Amino acid sequence: MKQEMIQFIRNNNQQFVQLRRDLHRIPETAFAEIKTAAYIAAKLREWGYTPQEGIGQTGVVAELQGGAGDGPVLAVRADMDALAVTEQTGLSFASEHPGRMHACGHDSHMAMVLGTAFVLAQFRSHLAGTVKFIFQPSEEQPTGAGAMIDDGVLQNPAPDGIVALHNWPGLPVGQLALSAGPVTGSVDRFQITVSGRGGHGAKPHETVDPVVMASHCVLALQTVVSRLNNPLKPLVLTIGAIHGGEAFNVIPHEVRLTGTVRAADPEVQSQIPAQMKQVLDGVTAAYGGSAQLDYEWGIPSVVNDGPFTEQVEQYLRRWFPPEQVVALPEPSLVGEDYSLFLQNVTGTFFFLGTGDQGGPGLHHPQYSVPEDILSVGVQSFCAIVWEFFSEK
Ligand SMILES: [Zn+2]
Ligand SMILES: [Zn+2]
Repeated sequence: MKQEMIQFIRNNNQQFVQLRRDLHRIPETAFAEIKTAAYIAAKLREWGYTPQEGIGQTGVVAELQGGAGDGPVLAVRADMDALAVTEQTGLSFASEHPGRMHACGHDSHMAMVLGTAFVLAQFRSHLAGTVKFIFQPSEEQPTGAGAMIDDGVLQNPAPDGIVALHNWPGLPVGQLALSAGPVTGSVDRFQITVSGRGGHGAKPHETVDPVVMASHCVLALQTVVSRLNNPLKPLVLTIGAIHGGEAFNVIPHEVRLTGTVRAADPEVQSQIPAQMKQVLDGVTAAYGGSAQLDYEWGIPSVVNDGPFTEQVEQYLRRWFPPEQVVALPEPSLVGEDYSLFLQNVTGTFFFLGTGDQGGPGLHHPQYSVPEDILSVGVQSFCAIVWEFFSEK
């Protein structure tokens, strides 16, 4: 059946290309994926599915019950949203929505998962299990995964496993890369208020200068990364904004700093607020002032399950030549709210190469995925479903 399926995927490549181009024309941002959801649902209906719309606001879910007996439930997820970017690709199927663009390649993810739904529907009678297709809105914000989970997407039936992929510049075109453990970063934000005592700019000894304290804090906070945490565990602490003072000759009362923390390892992430607080308290106390830290936990990092990821790697190796399936060279600290699915379901997130890193990358107005990867994505999901069901 494997050979038949691979042949069928090959024969239908043009169909996957069309899906991708149609979706590329109608990019919509977080929770505004109206046309996108309608397009997905219409295609699914055309192929015999009964999709549910409005899950997590604009999300779409569909199920395929195999005809070869009972088996496990496997979820396959694609993200749907585009970015507030003005497209500059010059493609014949470029964005028809001004100021909106599929610059992160989510059009290709949707085309791959839709393509998988199309292929597996043809082979339904041979499948021993249920496939749950999840089309998730608002990944970039990132609030869509949480919204879908709140709406019960992981119940009735609850998946026994979940998979998703992201197209990835920097890997050769069509290469599949996967690794156990953390593969993306958490996305936390914080605000710091450094308080002193304001006064005349010419009489600093009568004040507690929050500008000087805040300046020390900016530098000292980098030691949270360089001295308080293991350098082999990826971590970034960025101050993105500093606000304080209004006049050239006045020392203000307070200065506010805002920024973000990205960590690959959840354990590292969990200790950051305490470490920041320690540094901030120490530095400001040294000058007679104080600091308040408001730390907001965001999405966690994507942590791939070890045994499940190993299994998926084996599945892919059965369907692709050895050089096409590789270990992920390194994690990235970008955010990805697929992590929330992985907190509830065993699964993995893998990467599909789109070629040289020298060209425009993700989120760039000239970014476009090579269409050769579409059938690779479809084949990888079909491989995982087929092998997962065969093994259970
Ligand atoms: Zn993105
Ligand atoms: Zn993305």
